[in-house]
Amino acid sequence: MNIHEYQAKAVLRKYGVPVPNGKVAYTPEEAEKAAQELSGDIKVVKAQIHAGGRGKAGGVKIAKNITEVKQYAKDMLGMTLVTHQTGPEGKVVKRVYIEEASNIATELYLGIVVDRASSCITFMISREGGVDIEEVAAHHPEKIIMVTVDPAAGFQPFHARKMAFALGLNKEQQKHFHPFVVALYQAFVDTDASQVEINPLVITADDKLIALDAKFNFDENALYRHEDIAEMRDPDEEDPLEQKAAQYGLAYVKMDGNIGCMVNGAGLAMATMDIIKLHGSEPANFLDVGGGANKEKVTHAFKLILSDPSVEGILVNIFGGIMRCDTIAEGVIAAAKEVSLSIPLVVRLEGTNVELGKKMLASSGLDIIPADNLEDAAQKIVSAVSQKKAA
Ligand code: GDP
Ligand code: MN
Repeated sequence: MNIHEYQAKAVLRKYGVPVPNGKVAYTPEEAEKAAQELSGDIKVVKAQIHAGGRGKAGGVKIAKNITEVKQYAKDMLGMTLVTHQTGPEGKVVKRVYIEEASNIATELYLGIVVDRASSCITFMISREGGVDIEEVAAHHPEKIIMVTVDPAAGFQPFHARKMAFALGLNKEQQKHFHPFVVALYQAFVDTDASQVEINPLVITADDKLIALDAKFNFDENALYRHEDIAEMRDPDEEDPLEQKAAQYGLAYVKMDGNIGCMVNGAGLAMATMDIIKLHGSEPANFLDVGGGANKEKVTHAFKLILSDPSVEGILVNIFGGIMRCDTIAEGVIAAAKEVSLSIPLVVRLEGTNVELGKKMLASSGLDIIPADNLEDAAQKIVSAVSQKKAA
């Protein structure tokens, strides 16, 4: 789960990571009031959307006075901001953050990720922070330095020294950098974050360090133990189908293809997506109905897949382990009838009571294409969809 910049900064502030003072606003009047309450003449008005690249797209403006703050807030609120991270459809700005301006001398980059390859927490740092970090990553990857921290041993002073050295910090800056990274690491670990990005990490004219931008990504599976963070969820920023899926306890991720997939088990779901690609089509979604899928869940899953207008065919691939194949067949038949399915449906069942399940599908009177294995299933759905298109 992602959160907004102003929320991320509230988390950082709590852990003692220095961030500028700021206030969120939902209307130009609130923005004006926020500006009055903050100190300093110059404020920064920042569009709050779950995407980066706002600066280049007009979503970060420096206001010289309160009148300008109100005007920028008015311009931004309700606008659709298109950045290189939003996709061409962009994102509607519903909140702005009003922040006391900082006196920037240097913009650094600092990111933290859970690195699955090394099973470590990896810092990524660069002297070339700011709005062009993607350019740096693409053309000068050597300018991004990695420092891995073994989570069992925890963050050590030498990690901070290594980073400070790589960033070329002077004595005064180092003095501020050590507590900064220690606090940031603590925030990362405590909140079960999977990713944090501070870009830019700013060195001010008087050698202080400030997190001027902040992005947090949290492990969804750990949210149950972070009620305060779970409350920061902004439904406006999330895919409506994915939200619906979460309500029904389905693991669903929308993708760009045309073959809807209904599978039990994440591994089998991945394999199914792979084999669809191998046969020349693209999956429309990842969908794991879970081990204990019942008739009701299968129906919800069907409806979910079908509410995506780009779906032109469905591949059901279920392994009946805990769940028996006849129960699955019952669910598939009921769901297909309820939604009066009009696109090709291929079903591959395997496992307990598979013969009975197949018999039920065959005698259901529905136009269900049976498949014997993964390969067969993928071939059948891809050709059924292309035949239907040609017809
Ligand atoms: P992003 O483009 O979505 O990553 O938004 P950022 O919050 O990173 O802001 C983009 C850029 O705006 C930064 O890299 C800074 O150069 C500039 N900026 C943001 N806040 C301030 C500020 O307080 N003072 C100054 N001078 N520039 C700022
Ligand atoms: Mn940024």
